[in-house]
Amino acid sequence: MYLKLSVIAALATFATAAPSTTTTAAGAPAAPSSSPSVPASLIPLPAFSGTLVGVYPPQDKTAPTDTPLVKQWLQELNLTAIPTWPVVPFTAAGDPQNPTAIPAASCDWTETNCINKDLTTCPLGVWGLTYDDGPTEFSGKLYDFLDTTDQKATLFYIGSNVIQNPALARRACGAGHHIAVHTWSHNPSTSLTNEQFVAEVKYTEMAIKELCGFTPTYFRPPYGDIDDRIRSLLWAMGYTSTGHMTLEHELYQNTVDAAIANLPKVQATWKTMPVSACMNDAHPYKEKNITLATMDGAKTGVTNNSTTSSTAAASASSTASAGSSTASGSVSHSTTGSGAVVNVAVSSVAVLAVAAVTLGQMMLL
Ligand SMILES: [Zn+2]
Repeated sequence: MYLKLSVIAALATFATAAPSTTTTAAGAPAAPSSSPSVPASLIPLPAFSGTLVGVYPPQDKTAPTDTPLVKQWLQELNLTAIPTWPVVPFTAAGDPQNPTAIPAASCDWTETNCINKDLTTCPLGVWGLTYDDGPTEFSGKLYDFLDTTDQKATLFYIGSNVIQNPALARRACGAGHHIAVHTWSHNPSTSLTNEQFVAEVKYTEMAIKELCGFTPTYFRPPYGDIDDRIRSLLWAMGYTSTGHMTLEHELYQNTVDAAIANLPKVQATWKTMPVSACMNDAHPYKEKNITLATMDGAKTGVTNNSTTSSTAAASASSTASAGSSTASGSVSHSTTGSGAVVNVAVSSVAVLAVAAVTLGQMMLL
């Protein structure tokens, strides 16, 4: 089960450091002038005036389903193929209201830890480095730290936070981090209708596309909450879902500080890299002319000779369809049932690193 928000809030009170001062102002260049160590951008970014062009829903509220854009997105999907597992009401405390009513066949992770094609492991000896819930006012400190060792990570972004912190999002995109989706408003996914969930993913995707010029294809559910209805919606939109692997957050000062404190200990034992890298997925965006570094040697960069997928990579217009797709995007990513992979969380090689995992699991948000 996941930790409740109230507990997270309590943990946050232990933070002793002042908020990071490295956060850049909205509209600033991708590389903030306050961080001279920030490397040159590896991924060219679209022009950005400092003001988002797109019309976005209110922040931190469940995305609406009655806008022309959402209606368009829904029309592009074949919802008749989506399993009819019930929407699960959640209590204010973050629990399913009636867990006994959740069908076992729905493969609901929250109640049964069921997984279905979710990415959950990296190869032996590799640590899939991920941070959820950004970008926030604290993210600049984390990105500075990652830059000091040229460390890349998968960043599961909340759409509401992306439009709140556009400069930080652009910095991470340009640096070559692997950017992925973590919904618009951070509701438990199974508590949303099909239409609401599509809107939550697509508005987040739209914000990332406008600011960074590319379309993510990886998704992690808030609280780990997912079932086969939500998975099918993701596959219909061209997404792969990731499970827990390793998990840290850039939501609060204390989680960023913990991440910074623990990462060198993890790096002493494991190779650390984004999820896309450990899966040897060199093209984790719909724009296949963009390459991100992988374990088997691919180098981060962009070519002008796109051979597949989107022709709108350079468009910053949020009025575009935000790249809907019917491909599952998960064909090569199944990691279950193989003796060659291991869940790093159960390794006993490095106690400190395991402690870091435990911290991450405690703060599963
Ligand atoms: Zn989260």
